[in-house]
Amino acid sequence: MKKNVNACLICGAPLVYLPEEKPMECAGCGRTFSANAMCENGHFICDDCHRAPALVVIRQRCLQAEDTDPIALAEKLMQEPTVHMHGPEHHVLAGAALLTAYHNVTGKPGLEANLEKMVQRGKQVPGGTCGFFGCCGAAVSAGIFGAIVLESTPLSEETWGKANLLTSQCLANEARLGGPRCCKRNVYMSILTTVKFLREEMGVQLPIPPRTVCRFSHKCRECLESRCPFYEKK
Ligand SMILES: [Zn+2]
Ligand SMILES: [Zn+2]
Repeated sequence: MKKNVNACLICGAPLVYLPEEKPMECAGCGRTFSANAMCENGHFICDDCHRAPALVVIRQRCLQAEDTDPIALAEKLMQEPTVHMHGPEHHVLAGAALLTAYHNVTGKPGLEANLEKMVQRGKQVPGGTCGFFGCCGAAVSAGIFGAIVLESTPLSEETWGKANLLTSQCLANEARLGGPRCCKRNVYMSILTTVKFLREEMGVQLPIPPRTVCRFSHKCRECLESRCPFYEKK
């Protein structure tokens, strides 16, 4: 029996998704939001309350990190207790690991300011966009990383194309595996796709392990197991 980790943060019950959004009061901060996910006992936690503690930790760890391997750094961040099995904190985590490794490899200054941009942009990507928008937030996180290091804006020409190309490559690689969603699988896939993009499009080489192995499959009720390239049977 798998431990039920992708579940209500209040009572541990499984989450249910409603076909329509409705106003719900957050059990963390008491604010009311239009939302469509709650637990079987009716608890709703807003995106801010779900990811706020994790974002503080992600920023701190990245500023202190000497890692040049973004997969190794992402794995350390995902082992932080405030980072849940699934959740919108991964929409900052993937890009933050990439940014940190990129700055550590290239020696370029400005990591702290770029991490701030990553947090501000990544936290605008709501939970559940993979299924509801057809656009996984871990792929968007890699795209935000690309937009930051390419200094792309909506009016840019070449860099506009490159940033959107990066996101699209991440999405395509994730999409081929099918669902259900897994924030760990999609963080790994978007980072590996970005490492290849950096090498081919920008001449920057980030070191990665010979094989990426997921250490979280025992916590994921919906794990694809043998259909996930990162799954390793225990
Ligand atoms: Zn609950
Ligand atoms: Zn809240």
